[in-house]
Amino acid sequence: MAIELYNTLSRKKEAFKPIKKEVRMYSCGPTVYSWQHIGNMRAYVFADILRRVIEYNGYKVKHVINVTDVGHLTSDADEGEDKMELASEKEGKTAGKIAQFYFQEFEKDVRKLNIEAPWKWAWATKHIKEQIELIKKLENKGYTYKTKDGIYFDSRKFKDYGKLARLNIKELRAGKRVDVGEKKHKTDFALWKFSQEKRQQEWKSPWGVGFPGWHLECSAMAMKYLGNTLDIHTGGEDHISVHHTNEIAQSESATGKKFVNYWMHNGFLVDEEGRKVSKSKGGLYTITELEERGYKPEHFRYLLLLTYYRKPLHFSLENLDAARNAWERINRKVIELRKEKHKGVDRTKEYGLEFLKAVNDDLNTAKALDIFWKALNDFDFTPGRKIVLLEKFDRVLGLNIKGMKEKKVVVPAEVKKLLEQREQLRKQGKFAQADILRQRILELGYTVEDKPKSSVLIKNSS
Ligand SMILES: [Zn+2]
Repeated sequence: MAIELYNTLSRKKEAFKPIKKEVRMYSCGPTVYSWQHIGNMRAYVFADILRRVIEYNGYKVKHVINVTDVGHLTSDADEGEDKMELASEKEGKTAGKIAQFYFQEFEKDVRKLNIEAPWKWAWATKHIKEQIELIKKLENKGYTYKTKDGIYFDSRKFKDYGKLARLNIKELRAGKRVDVGEKKHKTDFALWKFSQEKRQQEWKSPWGVGFPGWHLECSAMAMKYLGNTLDIHTGGEDHISVHHTNEIAQSESATGKKFVNYWMHNGFLVDEEGRKVSKSKGGLYTITELEERGYKPEHFRYLLLLTYYRKPLHFSLENLDAARNAWERINRKVIELRKEKHKGVDRTKEYGLEFLKAVNDDLNTAKALDIFWKALNDFDFTPGRKIVLLEKFDRVLGLNIKGMKEKKVVVPAEVKKLLEQREQLRKQGKFAQADILRQRILELGYTVEDKPKSSVLIKNSS
């Protein structure tokens, strides 16, 4: 069965045909100057679902995600300060330390959200040589020019400029005059920026000391690891008009080949009124902040699965509560299911086919969840077969079905001993002393509940 994917390039769903059996996929990654919030994390869960669906269909996937640790300026128009240098100043740590710290925090969230690690995390500062080589190639072909500020890409020389975003270039360039500095055209962009003053992160280049422009790293690293033409490139929809447009311009100008066959983009997180949830307005939590409020990362993943990846996702704690309830219900039902022994019919094939149809229809995870629930609630479906199928579905969904098991609590010896002593005291009618031991046990994290025949130990949640 074909996988149908919506390609931003053609604005259509297309049958996915990889170049080779091993699918080559690139995703724009984090700029590691701060915590990643749940809006950022949506992009990685989306790429993860995509990768899992392709793998579910029997392909291997070579997946690269970049880590931006230099060159991302506060304005996408090649102006403003470098986000890394700014964070370094603010926190009083070196840019390298900042990058390491926030990357580790990000990677923890990646694991918590059951996102499969990519084949490679590609760091921008570890690929300066490749980026300089790419500029040289573009320079040799006549696509660049120099200003006081750096080396720029001449977007007029690339005739397909703006094809991904369907930009009306004439209008854009003829529109109200904007200050383009020394740039020739508004759509030109920096490949290399000269250091105006001493920076922590700067390198020698044939044009002068400086650092690469932000768009450059993705082209250089994607082509280094995945070849001149990739199967799939993903990112947030905010990347379409500038970042990905520029990636295409510089890559295709350098190689003369199509850079990416399938461009795929995810939507934003929006609030109840449909406005983009942003950091500056508050309301963009980190995964840790959600955990502090009593949510599991899986609850957020479940919420993401409920919405088509291209649509805006309405985020509110009420919606997250609903997702939590659904996930917890699955958890309880799966634990029960593992104990069920009754006979039934095997419906692996029919549910399996429905599920595959759903996920292959441009990752329709909401529909896939419906089918998951239908199978889960189907009492006539042989329990043993059912659990195997649900675990298979989870290879796409990533809800941690395998981990849904009755947890055996290991009671520490000290608590056991206190419990026995307390039983003795109760038998002897020494209730006041028994109560002191109950208190001791409570301090060790366990609650004693007295039942008619014996007492039960309950582990308190920490
Ligand atoms: Zn990128």
